[in-house]
Amino acid sequence: MTTHTPAAQPIARPDPDTSSMRAIAVHPGTPESIHARSVRRPEIDDIPDGRGVLVQVLRVGLDGTDKEISQALYGMAPDGDDYLIIGHENLGRVVSSGPNVPPELRPGALVVSTVRRPGHSAYDRLGMQDFTTDTVYYERGINLRHGYLSEFYVEDAAFVVPLPPTLERVGVLMEPLTVAEKGINQAYEIQRRLRIWRPARALVIGAGTIGLLASLVLRLEGIDVTVLSRRRAPYLNSDLLDTIGARYVSSVDTDVATVATAHGPFDIIFEASGFSPLAFEAAAALGTNGVLVLSGVTGGERVIEIDANRINQGFVLGNKVMVGTVNASRDDYVHGVDHLLAAEAMHPGWLEQLLTTRVMGLEDPAAMLAALEDRDTIKAYVEVAASSVMEGER
Ligand code: BGC
Ligand code: ZN
Repeated sequence: MTTHTPAAQPIARPDPDTSSMRAIAVHPGTPESIHARSVRRPEIDDIPDGRGVLVQVLRVGLDGTDKEISQALYGMAPDGDDYLIIGHENLGRVVSSGPNVPPELRPGALVVSTVRRPGHSAYDRLGMQDFTTDTVYYERGINLRHGYLSEFYVEDAAFVVPLPPTLERVGVLMEPLTVAEKGINQAYEIQRRLRIWRPARALVIGAGTIGLLASLVLRLEGIDVTVLSRRRAPYLNSDLLDTIGARYVSSVDTDVATVATAHGPFDIIFEASGFSPLAFEAAAALGTNGVLVLSGVTGGERVIEIDANRINQGFVLGNKVMVGTVNASRDDYVHGVDHLLAAEAMHPGWLEQLLTTRVMGLEDPAAMLAALEDRDTIKAYVEVAASSVMEGER
């Protein structure tokens, strides 16, 4: 494990008598403005109707979205503030809860909160804000809502998901897992049209955190999984895939079409490489009645030539589906809990190996960005507070 600040550096311990707390924030629109700051500490009564849950943050994972926000490519501050507290991959412990909070979210509970909050469309009103048709969306740590990279946060119980205490060591992987969960759950939901659809073979493109977690879920569902990613095996990611019985191939040595001939036909292709041309190679290689799930948020511009007639005809004659997926619903979190438990039971220690790169405390934003740059990083995360399990390790 890489630690980007000296292990001796103390993790901030919350002072019970203070009304402020530390947080990591950016000034949206200003590149390289990431900084540590003191902000007002949230209170349980910030949430109306006794539904507030005050959470002490234990760990926060970092990803490409945080990097883009710090480069000012993305992200807006909440109304009335000129800064945005970042961090959306959260894990925490409830310190207090309002009178109308369900018992599983009482003090001491290990929790993960969802990212997107309802806007104004009909989908949002149904609690389906991950399918919003609004152009502006509200996401904690990303857009118009403060995130979790702070000592505490407060949230409405509706958006807080309890985790079994045994998941404390790996619970920070929950939010990225839900991105894979939503894509795969959507694939199954769509394919109910086929009545007897039983996927046998899947291709995952990209072996980063989302690709690894998608591969895990597909393997737990008993599917034969091939993963195509750039770097040549062996390295940690390819070893991890080997452990769960997934096949790894490098795109240096082959391409999607060749992989489909050798290991397909693919009933599911999950694109998680972030390189958009591969979405169209995948479309060309998808099996009959197959579903292609696209999860890469690809900013900027990239124009390519595609084999349009062949791809179009393949989709028509093969009854194929291509679906985009973003964010996740509360149900995807609930499925995610089951998959984390199954993974811990079947492949003990596997999930923890994804947590390659730790940054201690809330005072070193430069180390947080550096952790994302390391090519051996799978998941970089910030150890915000010492929890009981982590304490036992010291
Ligand atoms: C987050 C998602 C979010 C998406 C778009 C991703 O990094 O994990 O929750 O919906 O960015 O902002
Ligand atoms: Zn993310």
